[in-house]
Amino acid sequence: LTVGVVREETPGERRVALVPGAVSRLPTGVVVQSGAGAGAWFDDDAYAQAGARLASRAEVLATADVIVCVHPPEDALRAGQALVGLLQPQRRPDAVAAWAAAGVTAISLDRLPRTLSRAQAMDALTSQASVAGYKAALVAATAYGGFFPLLTTAAGTIRPAGVLVLGTGVAGLQAIGTARRLGAVVSAYDVRPQARGEVESLGARFVDLPGAASGSGDGGYARALTEEEGRAQQAALAEHIARADVVITTAQVPGGRPPVLVTEDTVKLMRAGAVVVDLAAGPLGGNVAGSVPDTTVVTDNGVTVIGAGNLPATMAPAASTAYSRNITAVLAHLVRDGALSLDLTDEITSALVVTHDGVTHDGGAR
Ligand code: NAD
Repeated sequence: LTVGVVREETPGERRVALVPGAVSRLPTGVVVQSGAGAGAWFDDDAYAQAGARLASRAEVLATADVIVCVHPPEDALRAGQALVGLLQPQRRPDAVAAWAAAGVTAISLDRLPRTLSRAQAMDALTSQASVAGYKAALVAATAYGGFFPLLTTAAGTIRPAGVLVLGTGVAGLQAIGTARRLGAVVSAYDVRPQARGEVESLGARFVDLPGAASGSGDGGYARALTEEEGRAQQAALAEHIARADVVITTAQVPGGRPPVLVTEDTVKLMRAGAVVVDLAAGPLGGNVAGSVPDTTVVTDNGVTVIGAGNLPATMAPAASTAYSRNITAVLAHLVRDGALSLDLTDEITSALVVTHDGVTHDGGAR
């Protein structure tokens, strides 16, 4: 069995699906497109030293039995070939149809049943969200004109920044931890009441919204709130947002648009110099009204609103190293005696497989 690594072609993407350190952990041959790791500072020599063969893209695509990727390549794949990555099949119906028609086995890490403890090592959504949450706190600290920590100086005491984190899943918790390590006073809110314990264990204060709806959904995720519940939540959050120096938002609901937590009117209540980082900003909108990925806007009242883009790509070495561990764990789960062996009665495998033998599977998780 040969595993192939191609260079990511999505604009701005610097990650690579397999780092040199992971090559030797695979019980298979590995063929790597020359330059595939360059964006993450892994050069061809490092792959060669780890035992991989360097080749052209065309050769990788022609010889590999399993192509590993972050984003799916647009290249045509052949019957019997497998593709493993964050394929986001729900956003790519045409690609899914093409893989099925071509007899490609498409395996998507974003369909992993994340609450299974034996799936944790494969959890690329968690590893990449952790990177994003960490970096979001640093992006906020850089854009903010004050100190995060309390500083006692000869000329007086400087108060610490007040950071509010909205949405405390994997990314939000990492943002809390990072802002706390920088010395900020952190408070946080999540619509899932179970989040309180995790927030408090990181030394942040959990914001109570009296009368707000509880939004626990299936599989540990949040449910989408009704319009009325959403409006009540926005109103209740406004006073907390207005008091914050920095707001970091990370709220998502599976398969839906991210909820708007910070309205245009709420941004108007914030003070000049405040910073908002919207990690949920994406093609479907974000948690902050009007935020756009990779775009920073300074409002008329002096609030810097940053639509975060692909933050894991800005930490490509670390993000790729973590992602590689997830990829090698998935391959360890799927490869038996040197061949890909898909047991579709296994809970993890059946969730991950999107297309196989011409059939499209709708999976279980998200
Ligand atoms: P996510 O990216 O889907 O959402 C981020 C956060 O936004 C979630 O905490 C969600 O509750 C919150 N949110 C959604 N709507 C909101 C609203 N209107 N207001 C405020 N907050 C809102 O979440 P995630 O980071 O992928 O994690 C989701 C869940 O999966 C969490 O319960 C997490 O603990 C769990 N998880 C479990 C494991 C595991 O057991 N191994 C691994 C990873 C994640």
